[in-house]
Amino acid sequence: MFESRAGETGPSGRPLLHVDADCFFAAVALRGRPDLARRPVAVVNHMFVASANYPARRRGVRGGTTVAEAVHACPGLVLLDVPHAEVEEVSDALFGVFHRFAAAVEPGSVEEAFLDVRAGDWGEAARTAQTLRAQVLLELGVTVSVGVGRTKLMAKLASRAAKPDGLHLIEPHHEAELRAGLPISRVWGIGPKTLTRLANLDVHRLADLDRVPREAVQRLCGTTMARRLTQIRNGTDDAVVRPVQHRESLSAEVSTEGYARPDHTPAAMARLCTERVLRRAEKAGLSGTGILLTLQPRDGGRPERRRQSGTPGDGWVHTASALLEREPVPPLAGLRVTLTGLAPAGQEPETLF
Ligand SMILES: [Mg+2]
Repeated sequence: MFESRAGETGPSGRPLLHVDADCFFAAVALRGRPDLARRPVAVVNHMFVASANYPARRRGVRGGTTVAEAVHACPGLVLLDVPHAEVEEVSDALFGVFHRFAAAVEPGSVEEAFLDVRAGDWGEAARTAQTLRAQVLLELGVTVSVGVGRTKLMAKLASRAAKPDGLHLIEPHHEAELRAGLPISRVWGIGPKTLTRLANLDVHRLADLDRVPREAVQRLCGTTMARRLTQIRNGTDDAVVRPVQHRESLSAEVSTEGYARPDHTPAAMARLCTERVLRRAEKAGLSGTGILLTLQPRDGGRPERRRQSGTPGDGWVHTASALLEREPVPPLAGLRVTLTGLAPAGQEPETLF
């Protein structure tokens, strides 16, 4: 979770980068296991596939499916636990690299971001992207793909086309043709409901919008979505990289249902995660004003959240265990600790009220 601030950059026609790590969780898990690199590997969280490497993907393994489905699709699939602590560290380091290369970084997730590298032209953007890719591999041992485009949508489409371990540019003179033929389903942020409504208007590609009155789209999809579609069709869609000053929260997570890991007690998991999250906050020069425990029950039920606010300097490890003692804890598949209300250490957090 990040906080957006003033000082955002664009739209200026400057090429923007979308940087996205390739099968991130699996790549982190495989860093120390070159023996497995060519074998199909999936990393698993709470009995679901969190990420699969490319050999596994080629054999039909997809993120979000159950372990049973994945093994059915790909007998011989190697299963590893999500290495949560390493994922958190590599993600922090990845954003460290992003900030060294870019004047503005807008995070999309733990492993992807839009970057404004202030490239003067497309050649410079491509060179910077390649240097960044080499640097990430050298420092962190994982690959990232980079898309370069004039708007965020173009940069994101380009990074998808670049995968895995590649660079792809969508230069402005290719945009018009690409936009016209673009299937609506590939436009980022268009949900299944909107897709169905547009299909009812016989709109499947962006250019199909040209023969439908704007009012019809508005009536079916709402004003905001209609405006957004028009902007995407016309090329006036979002080209602003909104930088963040600092994170609003930091999380650390651990699972009990490991393939190689012994079970932890809830108290031990809470301590482990709290210590990890505090270490990362300290490294980033941040302190929190609240703690949130998310308990993932083993029976697959809804996660339970317990929170407590306090002041920086509170003993968060103690607070975390007190939260566990407040009520009985069900058998757990995993536990996450989130430090919330982050602000630069030694500074009072800003409040709206
Ligand atoms: Mg990714």
